Amino acid sequence: MSKDCLFCRILNKEVPAKIVYEDDRAIAFEDINPQAPTHILVVSRRHIAGLNDVGPEDAALLGHLQLVAAQLARDRRIAESGYRTVLNTGRGAGQSIFHIHLHLLGGRGMRWPPG
Ligand code: 5GP
Ligand code: ZN
Repeated sequence: MSKDCLFCRILNKEVPAKIVYEDDRAIAFEDINPQAPTHILVVSRRHIAGLNDVGPEDAALLGHLQLVAAQLARDRRIAESGYRTVLNTGRGAGQSIFHIHLHLLGGRGMRWPPG
């Protein structure tokens, strides 16, 4: 828990969010500024700043975040049409919240490469 971290405050229910999934390691909620019809953030309960701050001991947690995203994609019925999971690392890649999270984006066509 970092008291000046927005996502820690959301997972402690100090800041409201549209929570769609919770378990002992992860929480998922709707992005406040959606970039696709489905845009959910899958967030580690443990405060980790980003992918530059993980080690081998975090492998299961990182895999768990992907599995939660895949389950939410099935729940939203976007698994067949296709979806994207994105983990931005560093400001240059667009990371703005330094608490590790996956974006789950889907419900529309996507181009490659991303901008
Ligand atoms: P990043 O840019 O770090 O990869 O992703 C941060 C995401 O958090 C952005 O897509 C942004 O729209 C979202 N976000 C920022 N502030 C809030 C908030 O207060 N509530 C919710 N639900 N999402 C937020
Ligand atoms: Zn945090």
